[in-house]
Amino acid sequence: MQKRSPQTLAILMGIGVAMLATPGMAQTGGTAKGAAALKGSRFITLGTTAGPLPRKDRAQASNLLIVNGTNYLIDAGDGATRRIVQAGINFLQVGTIFITHNHSDHMAGLATLLNAQWEYSRRQPTNVYGPPGTQRVVEAAIAYFTVNAEIRSTEGKTSPRSNLFIGHDVGVGPIYADANIKVTAVENTHFNIAKDSPLHGKHKSYSYRFQTPDRVIVFTGDTGPSEAVTQLATGADVLVSEVLDAEEIKQRRIRSGNWDHLSAAEQAAFMAHLIDEHVTPEEVGKMAAKAGVKTLVLTHLPTTGKDNDDYKRYVDKVGKYYKGPVFVASDLMRF
Ligand SMILES: [Zn+2]
Ligand SMILES: [Zn+2]
Repeated sequence: MQKRSPQTLAILMGIGVAMLATPGMAQTGGTAKGAAALKGSRFITLGTTAGPLPRKDRAQASNLLIVNGTNYLIDAGDGATRRIVQAGINFLQVGTIFITHNHSDHMAGLATLLNAQWEYSRRQPTNVYGPPGTQRVVEAAIAYFTVNAEIRSTEGKTSPRSNLFIGHDVGVGPIYADANIKVTAVENTHFNIAKDSPLHGKHKSYSYRFQTPDRVIVFTGDTGPSEAVTQLATGADVLVSEVLDAEEIKQRRIRSGNWDHLSAAEQAAFMAHLIDEHVTPEEVGKMAAKAGVKTLVLTHLPTTGKDNDDYKRYVDKVGKYYKGPVFVASDLMRF
C-alpha cells in the first residue's frame, strides 16, 4: 500500500475491489532497499499460491516482514529465495524465520535459502522457529546439502553449518521477542488429524501475530475456521489470511472428469479436508469482521485453471461480512 495516495486507497476501499498488482507494479512502491531503510514496518508477499502444485505466476507461500530494516521471513515455500532477491532484499540478511506449519508448500524453499546463505558466507546464526518438527526440518535441510558441502570444501568452503542454522520447536503463546517485534502463536485448525491416529497431537499448525512498533500484522498460515485465530487477530492492522472455496474446487474437479471415479467415501474425505482445514471467503469475512481488523489481505490462492485469475469473486463473498478494505495478494506486493 505504500506510495498509494489516500485518494487511490479510498477508491479501492470505496468500491471494495482488491488491488491487483503484477510483480512489476509492486516495484512501484520504491526499491526494497529504500523501504528497508525506513523506520517502521513493511511487509511483502513473496509467494501467494496454495498447495504444492507448481505454478508459473505465483511462488509457494512466503511473506517477508521488514521492521526498522530487519528482515523476518514467514514461511519459505518453493521460490522464496528468488522472490527475496526480486524484492531487492539481501538474502544473506534474512536471519529470523517463522514457519507456520510443515506442509511442503510452506517450507520447501527453506533448504535453498539456508544453503545459499552458507555458500555466500553468512556468519551469524539463522534461527528458524515453528511447530514441533521444525528442528528436524532444519537438520534435514542441512543434511540435504551435505554432499554438496563435502564437494565445496575442496573449493575452500569449509565453515560449519550445524551451528549456523538453528531450528526451534516452539509452543503457543509468546514465542519470540526482540527490539523490533513480539510474536505470539496460536494453534489453528489446519491439521484435523483423527483422534485415533498416532499422528494426532504430534503435528501442529500455527497462526502468528506480529506486534511491531507501528502495526500489528497477523498471518493465519493455513487454517480452518478457528476461534483462536479470530481472537489472535483482534484489532490487527492487517490480517493476512488464506482462503479457499471448497465448492468451487469440487465443481472444477467435476468439470475436469476428476471426481466421479472417486468413491463416496473418498469424495467425503476430500471435501472434509477442504472444509475443515481451510477457510472459505465467507468464513474469512466473518473472522475479519469479528476480529475488527483494519485491512484484510487474501493470499494462499488456489489454482483455478484460469490465467490471470483476479479472484474478485472471493472479495465479493468476503464483503458480505467484512466491510473494510480487502486486497488480493499477488507475489511481490508491498503493504
Ligand atoms: Zn498451504
Ligand atoms: Zn497447509
